[in-house]
Parts: sequence; C-alpha cells; structure tokens
Amino acid sequence: MVGAGLSGAVIGRHLAMLGHKVTVVDARGHVAGNCHTERDPATGVMVHVYGPHIFHTDDAEVWDYVNRFQTFMPYKNRVKTISRGEVFSLPVNLHTINQFFRATMGPAEAKAFIESKADTSITDPQTFEEQALRFVGRDLYEAFFKGYTQKQWGVSPTELPASILKRLPVRFNYDDNYFFHKFQGMPRDGYTDMVEKILDHDGITVQLNTRFDRAQAGEWDHVFYSGPLDGYYGYDRGRLGYRTLDFERFTHQGDYQGTAVMNYGEVAVPWTRITEHKHFSPWETHEGSVLYREFSRLCGPEDIPYYPIRLTAEQSLLRDYVARAETETGVTFVGRLGTYRYLDMDVTIREALDCARRFEATLATGERM
Ligand code: FAD
Ligand code: UDP
Repeated sequence: MVGAGLSGAVIGRHLAMLGHKVTVVDARGHVAGNCHTERDPATGVMVHVYGPHIFHTDDAEVWDYVNRFQTFMPYKNRVKTISRGEVFSLPVNLHTINQFFRATMGPAEAKAFIESKADTSITDPQTFEEQALRFVGRDLYEAFFKGYTQKQWGVSPTELPASILKRLPVRFNYDDNYFFHKFQGMPRDGYTDMVEKILDHDGITVQLNTRFDRAQAGEWDHVFYSGPLDGYYGYDRGRLGYRTLDFERFTHQGDYQGTAVMNYGEVAVPWTRITEHKHFSPWETHEGSVLYREFSRLCGPEDIPYYPIRLTAEQSLLRDYVARAETETGVTFVGRLGTYRYLDMDVTIREALDCARRFEATLATGERM
C-alpha cells in the first residue's frame, strides 16, 4: 500500500481483514495524508495541518464506516466571506442577497430578482464565469467569486470549467449550511486518530518516512498506489498541473474571527481565506488560538500537490498516463493523486471500499487486477 491516507488505510484494512499481510508505506512522518490533524502543543487546539477538512456525505455505508473508528461530533460548515468592506454569508443565500442589495426580499421575490440579474442568454454554461453569470449575475459574481477564484486557481474564471462552481449551491432561504449532505460531522479526536485506528490491525505494518519507488513494485504480490500518477512514471512525459497551498501560521489570545473559515473575495487581499482551527472543535474550550492564512500558487517539483488543475492542456497528458496505468498488472492506482481527481473524503472512502472488494473478487476468480 503506497500512502497512509484514507485510500491506503481503507484498502489496507479490508485486505488485512481477509487475512492478507499488508505493508503501508508513506513518505511523510505521519498517517492520514492530507487529512492529517495534530494538537498544537502550546494551545491544545486540534490543527488541520493541510487545510480545513469537514466530513460530509450522503453515503450511509461510508458514514457507518467512519463512525466505527471515531466518534463524530455534530458540526455544520458555515462559511463567511469578506468583500467590499463587509462580511457576508456563504453559500449565497437569502441573507447574502438581502444584505448585498440592501433589501428585505422573501424567497420568491429574491429568486425572481436574481433571475432578472442573471444572463439568461447563456443556455449551456461551459466556463466558471458563464456558470456564475447565468446563476447569480454579474454583481454577486464579481464580489464573491471572480477574485477568489482568480487567487485560488491562478487563471481567469473564463478558463476554468463550470463544474468547479457547480459544487456550491445558491439558496433562496436562510440556510447557510455550506453542504447539502445528510451526514456531516467532525472526528472528536481528529482524522489522524481515526486513520490510526483504521490501520490498527495485526495484519498491517506501517512504515513512515519511507518513499516508494516504482523499481520496488516487484517485491509485492500487489501494489495499491495512492501517490501522484505522473510521479509513478518519474514524470517522464511531463508533470500534471497542481495547485499547492502555503499556510502562514499565526496565533492569537482569545477569539480572532469568531468562526472557523473566513474567505476573502477580493484580489486586493493576497490570501484566499483564514482558518481559525479551534472553531472546528466547538465542544472544546481553548483560550489560545491557532490560525492559518492560506495562499494558493502553482505547484513546483518540491511542493505538496493539493488541487489537480485539469485544464485542457492537462487532458492529453492525463490520457497518456492513464492509458499506461491501465496496462499495468499488479499495480492499482487509487485516490486523489493516483487518479488525478478532486475527491472529497467520503468519495475517497467509497472508492477505496469498492476497489478492495473488486480485488477480493478477482482473487476468487484468479484474474489479475
Ligand atoms: P492523500 O491524503 O493525499 O494521501 C496520499 C499519501 O501518499 C500521502 O500521505 C503521501 O505522503 C503519500 N505518498 C505519495 N507518494 C508517495 C510515495 N512515492 N511513497 C510513499 N508515500 C507516498 N475532503 C472533504 O471531504 N472535506 C473537506 O472539507 C476537504 N477539504 C480539503 C481541503 C484541502 C485544502 C484539500 C487539498 C483537500 C480537501 N479534501 C476535503 C479532500 C481530502 O483531502 C481527500 O479526499 C483525501 O486526502 C484523499 O485521500 P488519499 O488517501 O487519496 O490521498
Ligand atoms: N469559490 C469562490 N469564492 C468563495 C468560495 C469558493 O469563488 O468564497 C469558488 C472557488 O473557485 C472554489 C470553488 O468555488 O474553487 C469551489 O468552492 P469550494 O468551497 O468547494 O472549494 P474547495 O473545497 O475546493 O476549496
């Protein structure tokens, strides 16, 4: 198992339960991959080391699965954004609309009003900008999405696919829950504790600070690889584009911003958001506070890859690597980096469970995966 993130841990656990001997290697000094959490020794605050992670899903099996390894505390993600010198509520909801347009509209009125602002000549939005202009109109787009997206992705929203914005709802009521999923929560003792428990099985050996190289693949009956797809091939045909994040950590006595995530909608402020970690654990009390200012930039060879860019330029290179990966036997590419897709944690776990079951089935039939 290459990678001790959710992909490696869930597949590893499943195979260990079937009686296989599983070795999980990770180049980093901790398990849980990008979901890693650790307590800040000075304040006791649980810090989301690689950026904010909120667990949300509609998948009952995945929800049951994570609850076997961790107590999930009730948590609703409520995001705020600063634009034009004011704080607004996200995702765009009736409060945002009424505050922005200095109005007191009801749901139906607001819906008709936004529709009148929307560019209805766009019938099939392809780009991020078209999607925004079609569904929220130019004013809200320019205040909340244009600058933030430019900072987050480093390109104009006219070059990005509409699918990125489709992740966010627009609501004509006062519901400010960022997600619409049925289940949402925060692991009481952190994601790393949860992943340690998934990996805690007699059949599993974890080797940290251990980098896997393709030349070692033959040493194992089967390799599940959750590292970067292009990295497996030594980037020999070029690098798939990623955005990386820089976190500028600072501390504060008391409560700095009164909420976990504050976005900054305008390009004049260089960071995309500020995360105040203690608000992810509202059931705990801490006087001190740990905060991250988050900056996004193009990922260099030595940086940690975060968001796959997937622009048109990447598509042919991606197809090339995927075609090669499909010809491999004895190696399965999994997870966020192994398949070069933006995957939420619940989808990662769902895919890992399905992958482990497919592998189990091939063992029974004698096929090779
Ligand atoms: P990873 O967590 O990336 O794990 C891969 C592991 O492989 C890493 O630990 C790496 O060190 C190791 N590795 C790579 N190459 C090698 C090698 N050659 N040898 C040894 N080890 C190697 N999802 C949500 O559901 N909710 C959220 O709120 C949310 N927020 C996010 C915020 C940010 C900023 C980002 C970037 C992602 C967020 N996600 C969120 C997505 C979540 O992080 C992923 O779903 C999850 O991390 C995927 O797990 P994984 O195991 O596939 O990959
Ligand atoms: N977005 C934005 N303004 C915001 C929040 C999000 O323009 O205040 C855009 C941005 O392009 C982002 C996309 O909406 O990549 C999806 O938002 P989400 O919160 O899902 O981003 P992620 O979890 O990927 O950071």
